[in-house]
Amino acid sequence: MHNGHGGTKTAQQLYEHLARLDSSYTPAACAQYTEWIDEIRALKQERNAVVLAHNYQRPEIFEVADFIGDSLELARQARQVAADVIVFCGVHFMAETAKIVNPERTVLLPDLRAGCSLSASITAEALAERKEALRKVYPDLQVVCYVNTTADVKAESDVCCTSANAVKIVEALDSQHILFVPDENLARYVQTQTRKTILSWEGNCYVHHQITPEQILAVRRNLPHVKILVHPECREDVIQLADAVLSTSAMVRYAKESPAQEFLIVTECGLSDRLLLEVPEKKFYKSCKLCAYMKMITLEGVLASLREMQYEITLPEEVRVGAERSLSRMFELSA
Ligand code: SF4
Repeated sequence: MHNGHGGTKTAQQLYEHLARLDSSYTPAACAQYTEWIDEIRALKQERNAVVLAHNYQRPEIFEVADFIGDSLELARQARQVAADVIVFCGVHFMAETAKIVNPERTVLLPDLRAGCSLSASITAEALAERKEALRKVYPDLQVVCYVNTTADVKAESDVCCTSANAVKIVEALDSQHILFVPDENLARYVQTQTRKTILSWEGNCYVHHQITPEQILAVRRNLPHVKILVHPECREDVIQLADAVLSTSAMVRYAKESPAQEFLIVTECGLSDRLLLEVPEKKFYKSCKLCAYMKMITLEGVLASLREMQYEITLPEEVRVGAERSLSRMFELSA
């Protein structure tokens, strides 16, 4: 979504805004944030830069974001950026994706430690080996890679997908056998939605994988009327307890449009923060799992990124072109 909180807030307004989400925000911290936000906005103009932010980012980052969304929305948005510089507030593979789809732009990731347990669970070499072995058994095999992968894994795959379009992409392929990498939970969920044969990898997102059915059942017992929205990166036994299984952006739409007033949001905590800010008339309970990688990005880091033009994402052209082919095919098939 295009950022609706673009107006300049005083330190007090920012404090009131953020303290609704988390009581650990202090007036002093918000006064500092206000200064950094002003500096970031001025530097964005000077550098002709835009800030793209993932739904799981810290809420103060949303104050400087031009666009907030999930992986697919951010990839689409990155393709359209005409500004010289994209500051990517998300994790490394997402910044790579921005570079893949819009190579003319300078793409900056404010902190190189912002990785991802899921994308780290597979390498291009390991995928090439598995693909070769499986194709001997299933000659029609195609590889669908989740967008949470490095550029060279995307280049080694036939097509990318996100959690929002995974089922649609699998269904659109003219193969019966699909190697779906690297998220084993999402692969299992996709298998429940298709007659195709899904072969999976042994990877997972550590944030979603640690959520247990007991935690969900405890909420269900205490608050039986609450709608439970679950991300498909969660374990199968958690997905079974869901009222709806949705990507993060579909959760936002669902929460806005549903007549229900209270929701349990079972995904990374940052999304509940976005919902609390965007749909203040409804009530959201968090599963309270934070992605430590996503939280590596701070306002101070964004400021340093724009000041020093760091850390630039670059890719070998052959990898970029291979990854772009997988992403373009996803855009075509999910259009
Ligand atoms: S939430 Fe999970 S999939 Fe997303 S960046 Fe963090 S570790 Fe990776």
